[in-house]
Amino acid sequence: MTRCTHLDHVHVTELPEAVDGCEECLVTGGEWLHLRICLECGHVGCCDDSPNRHATAHAHATEHPIIRSLEPGEDWSWCYADEVAMLISAVHGQTRIPPSPMLNR
Ligand SMILES: [Zn+2]
Ligand SMILES: [Zn+2]
Ligand SMILES: [Zn+2]
Repeated sequence: MTRCTHLDHVHVTELPEAVDGCEECLVTGGEWLHLRICLECGHVGCCDDSPNRHATAHAHATEHPIIRSLEPGEDWSWCYADEVAMLISAVHGQTRIPPSPMLNR
């Protein structure tokens, strides 16, 4: 089993209390399905099932390797470099998120 060797990139250990949605989608008028947060810089982007996949785009553009799900009840993280899912116990908090615009039409 692959282990992630990028935990030193985790700088966000306290999740924000609330976010408004995917940062890029909010600017461009795009729609997201699920939200992910970059644990290196706190960027909020949309998942790979969203039309614009901003979380993955952010990871590739910045080489910030690790995201965490912001969906209610989900606490998994994902490392793009190692392609491995994991739980990072150092990350705390629960983020309030708005409903997906795609599910809310
Ligand atoms: Zn890794
Ligand atoms: Zn987006
Ligand atoms: Zn980032």
